[in-house]
Amino acid sequence: MEFETYHFDAVIVGSGGAGLRAALMLSEKGIRTAVVSKVFPTRSHTVAAQGGINAALGNILPDNWLWHMYDTIKGSDYLGDQDAIEYMCREAPDVVRELEHFGVPFSRTESGKIYQRPFGGQSLNFGQRQAARTCAAADRTGHAILHSLYQQNLRAQTTFFVEHQAIDLIRDERGDIAALMVLDIATGEYKVLRSRAIMLATGGAAQLFRTNTNARINTGDGLAMILRAGLALQDMEFWQFHPTGLSGKGILISEAARGEGGVLRNAAGEAFMKHYAPHARELASRDVVARAIAIEVQEGRGCGVNQDHVWLDLTHLDSALIKQRLPAIREIALTFAGIDICQEPIPVYPTAHYMMGGIPTNIHGQVKTLNDQGEVEVLPNLFAVGECACVSVHGANRLGGNSLLDIVVFGRAAARQLIEQLSHQPLDYFDAPLDLQPVERRIQRWQACDASSSDGTPASLRQRLQTIMETGCGVFRTEDTLNKCIDDLTEFSAQVDKLMLQDRSEVFNLERLEAFELENLLALAWATVHSARSRQESRGAHYRLDYSSRDDDNWLKHTLYFQSQPVNTPRLAYVPVTLQPLTVPSFPPKKRVY
Ligand SMILES: Cc1cc2nc3c(=O)[nH]c(=O)nc-3n(C[C@H](O)[C@H](O)[C@H](O)COP(=O)(O)OP(=O)(O)OC[C@H]3O[C@@H](n4cnc5c(N)ncnc54)[C@H](O)[C@@H]3O)c2cc1C
Repeated sequence: MEFETYHFDAVIVGSGGAGLRAALMLSEKGIRTAVVSKVFPTRSHTVAAQGGINAALGNILPDNWLWHMYDTIKGSDYLGDQDAIEYMCREAPDVVRELEHFGVPFSRTESGKIYQRPFGGQSLNFGQRQAARTCAAADRTGHAILHSLYQQNLRAQTTFFVEHQAIDLIRDERGDIAALMVLDIATGEYKVLRSRAIMLATGGAAQLFRTNTNARINTGDGLAMILRAGLALQDMEFWQFHPTGLSGKGILISEAARGEGGVLRNAAGEAFMKHYAPHARELASRDVVARAIAIEVQEGRGCGVNQDHVWLDLTHLDSALIKQRLPAIREIALTFAGIDICQEPIPVYPTAHYMMGGIPTNIHGQVKTLNDQGEVEVLPNLFAVGECACVSVHGANRLGGNSLLDIVVFGRAAARQLIEQLSHQPLDYFDAPLDLQPVERRIQRWQACDASSSDGTPASLRQRLQTIMETGCGVFRTEDTLNKCIDDLTEFSAQVDKLMLQDRSEVFNLERLEAFELENLLALAWATVHSARSRQESRGAHYRLDYSSRDDDNWLKHTLYFQSQPVNTPRLAYVPVTLQPLTVPSFPPKKRVY
C-alpha cells in the first residue's frame, strides 16, 4: 500500500487538555509539532469537565500542598505513587496561575481571587476538617481551560490534523516506534506521520460500560495501540464509578453539586451518608459514596417507581447561588430530566466515569515497560499524558478535581522532557525504513470485507460489550461475575471476528471508524477483567464482595497487563508502589475512613 508521509519533530495524539498543554510548550520552543484529533480540538472530552481543578491556593480557607498530597494518597487507597503525587501537588498552584495567564476566566471571590469550592476527599491539616481546594469557572471549568489552551496553540502555530483517527503506532526496522498511521475521516485516506517523538494523549475509555459519563469518542484507542505494540497497561482493574450520574442516562451531575451543599437522600427522605462516612458524609471519596448509593438501592431503600436511584437534594440551597455556581447542572437536569433543581431533587445513580489505570509512565511522561529480564525501563521517544496515562497519581481512586490538574501538570512535564531529549538526538536518527506490515493487515481487515454475514453492526456490538462489562465488572465484583464476564467476552470476541461492515464506501465510512474503536474497547475489556480477577482484595474503586478488605501484605502493588494469544489466557506482572516521595517523608498506608 502507498501512503502519503508527513514529517514532524513531535506528534501528539489527542487535543484534550493534556495534548494541548504539551503542544503549546513544544510549539513555543520551535519544535515542529502536529496534534491529531478525532474531533475538532475543542470538542475533546476535557470540554465537559464541570467542577474544577485542585490547587492549594488557600483563597477561601488556609491550605498547603502537603495536605493536598496527603488527601490524594489517602484517596488513592495508598496505591498512588508518592513521588508523582508530591510532584503534582507542588506544581498545582503554579499551573493554575499559568492557566489564569493563558486566559481562563475563573470565577472570583469578592476580593478578586480565584474562587475555590469544597470537593470530596479534601481536608485541612491531614484530615481535620473539610477544605475548599477546587478552582472553578462556574461549573464549566473544562470548557474554559480547553478553549484557552486551543487559542494559545493557534497563536503558537501548532499544526492540527483535525478529524483524523489514529489507527496504530508504527515501528521502524530496528524496532523503535517511529511513526503513526492516521485515517483522514472525511476522505477515507490513510496517512503516515513520521516523528522523532510520539505522545499519546487520547483520554479516557469509559465507553467500555453501558452507563457512563464519557463522550462517544472515549474508546481508549491509545491504550489499545500500546497493547498491540506489545507493551503493558497498568492497573486496569480500577475504574471510577461516579456516584451521581443522572439516573437511567448516566450523564454527570458534578460533585460540585454536593460541594455547594447538596444532600443525598433515600426513599424515606433520610440523608443516609452519615451511616457510611460519619465525618465527610456527601464529601467522602467517590468510591465510598458510589458504594453507599448502590447498597441503599440493593437493600430496597431506592427511590422512584422502580426504586432504582436515590435523590440528590439541592432544594434547601439559595436559588440565586444555584444559578450562579451551578448553571450547567441546572440546565442538564432541566433538559434531560425535566427537573428544576431549585424546586425538586435529582434522581441519581453511579455511572462509569474515569480510568485510574492506563499507560504506565514516570513523572516525565515517558512510557515504561518491562524488559526481557523483568526490569522496568523507559522507551525512548514514546510519551503518554492525561487520562490515558497512569503515572500513577490516582492509584485505586481519583479525587474530584485532580484529573484536570494531572493533565496540565504532566502535559507540561512531558513537553519539558521531550524538548530536552530532542536537543541531544541526531536529526537523521529516524531515517530507518518503517515496518508497515502489521498496520496494513489491520487496515485491510476493515477495507475489503464482503457481504454482511455478521450478527450486528459495530455500534450494536459496542452496546453488547458495554452490557457485558457493566454486569461483570461494575461497582461490585466477585470471582463468579468475573468468570462469567470472561466466558461472555470469549463468545463476544468470536462475534467481532465475524463482523463484516455493511457500509462499503471508501470515504467517510462511520462503520469503519467504529470497527476500529470496537477492537480497541474489546482489548481494554480483556485487560480490565483479567486484572480484576487476579486482584483478590478490595481497594479504592475495585471492590470484591468475596475479598472485601484491603490486603497490603499481598496487594500493595501495581498490576501490569500484556495482551497475549489466546487472549483469554492473561499475562500479568506486578511492580511495587513507590511509597517514597521526592523530598518529604512518606505517608505510610493506614486504615481509610472518612
Ligand atoms: C463529564 C465529565 C466531567 C468531568 N469533570 C471533571 C472536573 O470537574 N475536574 C476534574 O479534575 N476532572 C473532571 N473530569 C475528568 C477530566 O475531565 C478528564 O480526565 C480529562 O479532561 C481528560 O483529558 P485528556 O486530555 O487526557 O483527554 P480528552 O480531553 O478526553 O481528549 C482526548 C483526545 O484524544 C483524541 N483521540 C482519542 N482517540 C483518538 C484517535 N484514535 N485518533 C485521534 N485522536 C484521538 C480525541 O479526539 C481528543 O482530542 C470529568 C470528566 C467527565 C467525563
